[in-house]
Amino acid sequence: AALVARRASARAHWRRAVALLREFEEGCATPPARLRQVVDAMVVEMHAGLASDGGSKLKMLLTFVDALPNGNEEGIYYAIDLGGTNFRLLRVEVGAGSVVIGRKVEHQPIPEELTKGTLEELLNYIALALKNFVEREDGKDERRALGFTFSFPVRQTSVSSGSLIRWTKGFSIEDAVGKDVAQCLNEALARNGLDMSVTALVNDTVGTLALGHYYDEDTVAAVIIGAGTNACYIERTDAIIKCQGLLTNSGGMVVNMEWGNFWSSHLPRTPYDISLDDETQNRNDQGFEKMISGIYLGEVARLVLHRMALESDVFGDAADSLSAPFTLSTPLLAAIREDDSPDLSEVRRILQEHLRIPDPPLKTRRLVVKVCDIVTRRAARLAAAGIVGILKKLGRDGSGVASTGKTRSQPRRTVVAIEGGMYQGYPVFREYLDEALVEILGEEVARTVTLRVTEDGSGIGAALLAAVHSSNRQGSI
Ligand code: BGC
Ligand code: MG
Repeated sequence: AALVARRASARAHWRRAVALLREFEEGCATPPARLRQVVDAMVVEMHAGLASDGGSKLKMLLTFVDALPNGNEEGIYYAIDLGGTNFRLLRVEVGAGSVVIGRKVEHQPIPEELTKGTLEELLNYIALALKNFVEREDGKDERRALGFTFSFPVRQTSVSSGSLIRWTKGFSIEDAVGKDVAQCLNEALARNGLDMSVTALVNDTVGTLALGHYYDEDTVAAVIIGAGTNACYIERTDAIIKCQGLLTNSGGMVVNMEWGNFWSSHLPRTPYDISLDDETQNRNDQGFEKMISGIYLGEVARLVLHRMALESDVFGDAADSLSAPFTLSTPLLAAIREDDSPDLSEVRRILQEHLRIPDPPLKTRRLVVKVCDIVTRRAARLAAAGIVGILKKLGRDGSGVASTGKTRSQPRRTVVAIEGGMYQGYPVFREYLDEALVEILGEEVARTVTLRVTEDGSGIGAALLAAVHSSNRQGSI
């Protein structure tokens, strides 16, 4: 009788876990109709963000980049790329005809405590690293143009200056908010005896667009899906209504959307997303980013597993070890996959070693795979909807009528530069994203759209923008 009771109870536990799985799956559903609603909401918010500052959660920031590298740049340029998880120093030598003669890229970790200290400490660290890098590379410190990729929302006042609006991705250096980060870096460079100053202050998406455009002039937008997520694209200046009378030689300007902060009631939000938001330093912000990018996805999955552990015994008594925030990193999430091996031994290892679940049976391992897959799939499909939103705003989604109300036109070839660990290092994510693009656009139009992966584009592109925006301006848009 005891055995019968135990079996019945095990079945009840399993049913509870499966019910939670189903509920989560439904909450995350992104059928094409819903993705199209997200596309349309993105277009509406783009218009609103261009119409007035604060008109939308989409900031649609001016970049003052009105010329992109076109391949005629020549010389040696430096760049600093400060993004989410690490920091890079670059030296790029280019020759006419889109030839990168040489490039040197050095990756350095940003010590965790520097992301939470003072701006001066962070910039001193960076300035010193650059000084050592320049000395190693060039010996003498000949004055050279410097691109500064700063991958956070910045209100630019020119192509080489701008103040931090707020931090994202877990950075929280309070005294930096509102400061001109380029000027502060210039001061740090001077303090460290380096005769250089920022020529171009750019978002990582803008750097990526610049490198994309350098190789292929049909590149009109760039997307980053890494630790954080964002996109930028080339807008006509007359469509940037909030800045009337804005004149550029090219008639265009790159707009940094800061799409990580996009929000719409059409987004498939679950109770787990709300819990995640509560754990972060930037509650109520970066809602789109928290459903898509690297620092958050593993955490969403962990929250689901934790609830399962609390409400059933499918994880034995691992509820405690599953209760620690941010223990399931996205690389682990990416490694938890169906095609690992028939008995999911890699999944077992990850669960044992990283989440301290002693001996998860196959059934449980499958359950975990399913949870991770749901999270990944939703993320990739929402990113795809965001991309189509941009295409639609540009009249390049094949719907015939540009959002400006202009004439019907043949779909042109469109290239979107893309970068970041989620798309580059996570094949399943890429498959889901590409698949969703076809679902939304239809095969014929999807064929006119190329997602082109760039490598270190955020940094190399910044060096190229430094070239374009230093003394002799060339470039085109
Ligand atoms: C930042 C963006 C950045 C993106 C990708 C976001 O958190 O707000 O400025 O482009 O991450 O790095
Ligand atoms: Mg980066």
